[in-house]
Amino acid sequence: MIYLDHAATTPIPQAVADTMCNVLLNQYANPSAQYKAGLDMGAQVKQWRETVAAALDCPPGRLFFTSCGTEGDAWAVRAACWHNRRLGRHIVTTAVEHSAVLESCKQMREEGYEISCVPPRPDGSIAADAVLSAVRPDTALVSVMLVNNELGNRYPVEEIAQGLRERNPETLLHTDAVQGFLKVPFSARTSGADFVTVSAHKIGGPKGIGVLYIGERVKNPRPLLPGGGQESGLRSGTEATAQIAGFAKAAELRTANLSGAIAHMADIRAYAVEKLSEIPDLQIISPNRDFAPHILAAALTGWPSQNIVNDLSAQGVCVSAGSACHKGKPSHVVKALNLPKRVRESVIRLSFGYETSRADIDAAADALRRHHDQRFPML
Ligand code: PLP
Repeated sequence: MIYLDHAATTPIPQAVADTMCNVLLNQYANPSAQYKAGLDMGAQVKQWRETVAAALDCPPGRLFFTSCGTEGDAWAVRAACWHNRRLGRHIVTTAVEHSAVLESCKQMREEGYEISCVPPRPDGSIAADAVLSAVRPDTALVSVMLVNNELGNRYPVEEIAQGLRERNPETLLHTDAVQGFLKVPFSARTSGADFVTVSAHKIGGPKGIGVLYIGERVKNPRPLLPGGGQESGLRSGTEATAQIAGFAKAAELRTANLSGAIAHMADIRAYAVEKLSEIPDLQIISPNRDFAPHILAAALTGWPSQNIVNDLSAQGVCVSAGSACHKGKPSHVVKALNLPKRVRESVIRLSFGYETSRADIDAAADALRRHHDQRFPML
């Protein structure tokens, strides 16, 4: 199988699986238990938190384990609105956020919040100025992702943070860094963001574990899950120790040679642009500036996305029609670009990992060319 869907999820290295297996089989004590095995687990969780915090560049005490990126996004939106409940009921976000953010904002709308959605420019980019000019004195939260999961654009989170300090310092900033974490240079500490969401399964960790960074400006964050007091009382529930261990191992492996890995993905992406551009009717949709190295969107104009995905799958190549979360429905991200219908409905996403080779790209390009040559365009 040629796997070119690393933005949907990533394969788990053997070392991550071994680490998890060892915890499941041999280190199963509850980290809150007061006998030695429990205390040892508590110390391990502390260490794993430190490892993930080092990868995100933030104090471990400000990092809270969650069950996934979706949970982190939902928590951040609610916690920011709660924190600023006396400031106002206005949220600024973008039209191209992941549904985890957009649906959470929709929920807030049902509770009386007004949402301003900044549209992208035709190349999918978002200008810091466009976000900042939507901010008002009653804006409780600005939520802008670090890297777009369908197009690969890198958004100017740091510039937005700086602008917010001048425009309305009380407004809190959240960034969904699920696609950006360990793919583009980023530091939670220096970014100026008050909330940062991350998910392990995009970096070679297991599914079902993530973290939310909550910055120091949010003094008493609203607990997501009240209960037994885990995660400093903010997200109760017995720690998912095997997942946390796998997450930390993946972060450790990915940070060991981060610049080399980023350079490798950038090389693969550039090679893919070159190879795919040779295919007739194929148009590269992803931007050619400010982009992440692992995501490439393209349209085989006239050939419906889902048919391409199905045919490539039959040829042993996994790509996606936009975000995996859309399951064949038209994507709000691609729609927001205002592309002509024939292009919009032909968009596919190829996404790369540390393991992707040029031979994988050759195979995908061959499969796409066969699809072009052997199937009639239907749009
Ligand atoms: N945010 C972005 C940008 C994503 O790409 C994803 C997953 O595709 C999520 C959030 C949700 O993460 P999870 O699958 O861990 O819930």
